[in-house]
This record gives sequence, C-alpha cells and structure tokens, in this order.
Amino acid sequence: MTEPVVFTIDVLPAGEGSADLAATVRRAEPGVPTLRVTDLGAARGDGIFETLGVVGGHPQSVEAHLARLANSASLLDLPAPNLDQWRAAIRIAAGALPSDVQCGLKLVLTRGVEGSGTPTAWIVASIAASDFTERRTGIRVVTLDRGYPSDVAARAPWLLAGAKTLSYAVNMAAQREAVRRGADDAIFISSDGFVMEAPTATVIARTGDAFITPRTDIGILPGTAQLALFEFYRGQGFQATEQLVTAADLMGADGVWLVSSVRLAAPVVQIDGTPVAADLDMTDRMNAALLARDA
Ligand code: PLP
Repeated sequence: MTEPVVFTIDVLPAGEGSADLAATVRRAEPGVPTLRVTDLGAARGDGIFETLGVVGGHPQSVEAHLARLANSASLLDLPAPNLDQWRAAIRIAAGALPSDVQCGLKLVLTRGVEGSGTPTAWIVASIAASDFTERRTGIRVVTLDRGYPSDVAARAPWLLAGAKTLSYAVNMAAQREAVRRGADDAIFISSDGFVMEAPTATVIARTGDAFITPRTDIGILPGTAQLALFEFYRGQGFQATEQLVTAADLMGADGVWLVSSVRLAAPVVQIDGTPVAADLDMTDRMNAALLARDA
C-alpha cells in the first residue's frame, strides 16, 4: 500500500448502538469521489479533525484524540461524536496500514452537506510522508504574533481557539512565513507576550529537571504527544508543569521541542536566528517513549 486509503463513515448519533459498527465504515474504491462539493467541511472549513500516529500497526493515544475530537465538536456546536463508532472505524482503518513503517490516520467530521443536517465523517489512512530527519538535525523556528491575547478562549469563544477545526489556512500561512524568514517552522506568541503553540505542534521546554508547556486555557490545543510525554517525564522523576511561558523562557532553556502525533519530538536549534541549546540525548529518549506508547 502506498496510496492513502479512505474510509467513509455513516455517522451514528452519540450513544446509539449498532450490532455491527463495522458495517457503518466503508473502504472507498481508489479514485472514486467520496465528498460532495457542497459539504460544509469543503465549502467553509466547517468541521474538525484529528491526526493520529500509527506505529507497528497500533493507533496511538486513541482516547486522548477522541476526547479532543469531542471537545472540538462541542466548541463548534456539532453533534457529539459516537465514540464507539470512531473506535471501530480507527481499528478498521489502522488494519489497512503496514506495520513496518510509521503511518497516520486523519479523522474528519464536518457539518455535512449544506441543508442535510447530517454530519459527514471519514478517515484517511496513509504512510507518513517524511523520514523525520529533523528529529536528529533539529529545526529552526521563528516566533510569530498570533494576533490574539491569552484570554481569547474566554473572551471570544466564537473564534474557536482550542478547537481543532478544518480551517488550517492560517496555520499553513504561518509555516510559509517561517520559511520566508529562513526558518523551518513557527511558534505563535499571544498579543500579550505568551508562548502559545506551533501551527501543527505543541511547545515543550526543559530547564534542569523541570519540563514546561504552555497552559491550554490560553486558547491552544491540548497536545496528545505532550500529554504522553508528561507521563513519561513524571515516570522518570522529572517535574512537568503547564504554565504561562514567555519567549525568554525558551531562549534560556536547556532544550526546546516541537512535539506532535506523527512528527513526534523535534528539537529546536534556533529561535529568531539565535542558537538555542539542543538536548539530543533527551530527544532520543522522548521519541523512544512516544514510539513505544500503548494505544
Ligand atoms: N497544536 C496544533 C495547532 C496542532 O495542529 C497540533 C497537531 O497537529 C498540536 C498542537 C499537537 O497535537 P498532537 O500532539 O495531538 O498531535
């Protein structure tokens, strides 16, 4: 298998059982269209998604991803996802992937075809496109103004900060801006000066035996890789705290990482043109822990 495989899902309301959940998940024929152009996910980016890593054939951090999917659905006033149905669909889609390479599943839930009132859902199962050399070589980042204050989620919930919506055009534009500035990726800073997140990753920093990550109530996504890493750090006897973080905290840290489900942990080697300390030994331990994660 080299081409992505698409599974369409006949969405069941939350709590509605079915004797045969597997029958609600259908593998699409390659090349056969699966999405209507009037679907509000396509027409307005009105929907949500999750990207899970699949390692050795096992989908990772499934429950954390489903919790975030449910939270995103609630923030967008979408019908609550039927989690048993998603669990079944994830199992089926992961079964289509090879177990000897790193893979991913993208789960998508949209508001559905305009006027239908029925959500649309699908999963794309694919082999990871990258060889992830950045886990060893590191990445250069620039800080970019997010244009929101850190109380955006409470002050303006209609901006959907903290929901993983399909509207990632801004996130992609930030990554292009980073490349224009000679870097590989970006870190968003709130308009009142706090580190938020990267366009597709969570920020973690280490000082001595303490690891920190930005608090999620500042309008960012709770990262599933970050969550798994905080368990790993605590299990190793390190401190791990969610708090307000500034760019100065990152510049003075002993290690800074961008972490996410498929790329895993990439060490940051430069911020806004200034070299920062990279902790390659800890990077290897973090990536080993992430790869060994139970579903
Ligand atoms: N923040 C944003 C904006 C993201 O898009 C992502 C992942 O794509 C993350 C953080 C990291 O989340 P996870 O670790 O669950 O992949």
